[in-house]
Amino acid sequence: IELDEMRTQLLDMNRDLDYRVRKRTVQIEDLLKQKDEFIQIIGHDLKTPLTPLVAILPYIRKKVTDPELCELLDNTIEDVSTIRKLVTTILDLAQMNSLYMISDIQKIHIREMIDQIVSDNAYLIHQKSLKITNNIPDEYQVLMSPMHFETILGNLIGNAIKYSFINGNVTIDATDLGDSVMLSIKDEGIGIEPEHISRVFEEFYRADNSRHERGSHGLGLAIAKRVAEIYHGIITVESAGAGKGSMFHLHLKKNPDTFLKKREGLIQT
Ligand code: ADP
Repeated sequence: IELDEMRTQLLDMNRDLDYRVRKRTVQIEDLLKQKDEFIQIIGHDLKTPLTPLVAILPYIRKKVTDPELCELLDNTIEDVSTIRKLVTTILDLAQMNSLYMISDIQKIHIREMIDQIVSDNAYLIHQKSLKITNNIPDEYQVLMSPMHFETILGNLIGNAIKYSFINGNVTIDATDLGDSVMLSIKDEGIGIEPEHISRVFEEFYRADNSRHERGSHGLGLAIAKRVAEIYHGIITVESAGAGKGSMFHLHLKKNPDTFLKKREGLIQT
């Protein structure tokens, strides 16, 4: 009888514990959601005034001739664009867990969007005298959230530019694979050594800390990969090694698969 009582007591305790764990989990999830929402509000408020600054400062810089002022402006331009990229990264992380991530699915004109992403990087491209070639045919499209497309390609193209040498070429190509499309971003920059290549998609991983400047946090590729995975997309990388450039491939389905189609109301074409 004592054993039976003990068993019942243990089962009760177990149930109680279970209930408390579940309740605590819900509380934690709520708090995490509130934290993400808070970051999103603050992030947007921080990013909004930075966007015109990023556009207008290089313009002012062109008009200035005083060497001291030029140097000051160059540093300011770099700082402002670094802060903007960091805020974008933090926003991407905060959005990662929320469902509204896939609430804005529409037809993306790949070539157009890539031109836009390239023009967002105009200052650095100009500073490093890079040549960017967008070879995507006009008619190429995918169905996804524009915000997500920008997050993925913004990171891949941003890196190709960031890790390019002066006078380098960055080439963006596409291959039609029937129901999917493969985008390739090729640069002639610092490249990635074989021992680092499999780890570049890890959070906070930077292939060689010694060669990193400002604006490198080791998060961009991890975010790009996670966002691509929502669409069952795959990002791969190849590089012949240090100093020999890198090539990133993004394999995307043209149409969202059943996982996304279930949310039919969300798809606007
Ligand atoms: P980061 O902010 O450091 O660029 P990422 O997650 O975007 O973070 O990239 C992780 C690391 O992968 C980088 O720190 C860099 O070492 C390497 N990497 C990414 N893209 C390239 C590239 N195009 N060329 C050379 N190295 C790259």
